[in-house]
Amino acid sequence: MGTFYTDVIEQDPRFTSASRISDPELLEPITRELVEGIIAAAEEQGFDLMIFETYRSQERQEQLFLQGATQLRRVGVHHFGLACDIVRSVNGEPSWKGDFSIVGQLAESAGLVWGGNWGNPNIHHNFIDQPHVQRCTIARQASLFSGLWYPDDLYNPLDEEPHMLFASISRQARQRPRAKTKRASSQRRRRSKDKSL
Ligand SMILES: [Zn+2]
Repeated sequence: MGTFYTDVIEQDPRFTSASRISDPELLEPITRELVEGIIAAAEEQGFDLMIFETYRSQERQEQLFLQGATQLRRVGVHHFGLACDIVRSVNGEPSWKGDFSIVGQLAESAGLVWGGNWGNPNIHHNFIDQPHVQRCTIARQASLFSGLWYPDDLYNPLDEEPHMLFASISRQARQRPRAKTKRASSQRRRRSKDKSL
């Protein structure tokens, strides 16, 4: 059986578009519903938010990587319709100024991982991406990217065992002392690039 990625995203003419896409139709339906809920709930509290980016192609990811705008060269969670960047709307224009904790609070109650803490507020994160929300833990990303896993409708990343929210970080920490050879350290570098989106 297909997923939203194989049935909708891969079939869409914008699949390889290098332009920024903010169309909510390219968000997986549960992710879309939760993102729209966040924007509506923020509005009730007097915060004007807007979707800045939903789906992202490999072509655009490569461009952003070369510009230094992302640490990830290969497509991230955006590519699978499971991540959205939500920014402030100032007179209809996107703005990154001010406090984004409202996005974090609403993402948490919606059941989405927030890029302000990657689902785990108790550890230090080197990479913070406050407008970013995603319906996938960091630990699931590798199986998502390789096509082995896609969330079902009931999946809530914040319900996963706590270790799934910081597995990538603890795995790196465990491997550090062993990585003495040249080959091991270059593998480590490559892995560390994969931790954010
Ligand atoms: Zn993002």
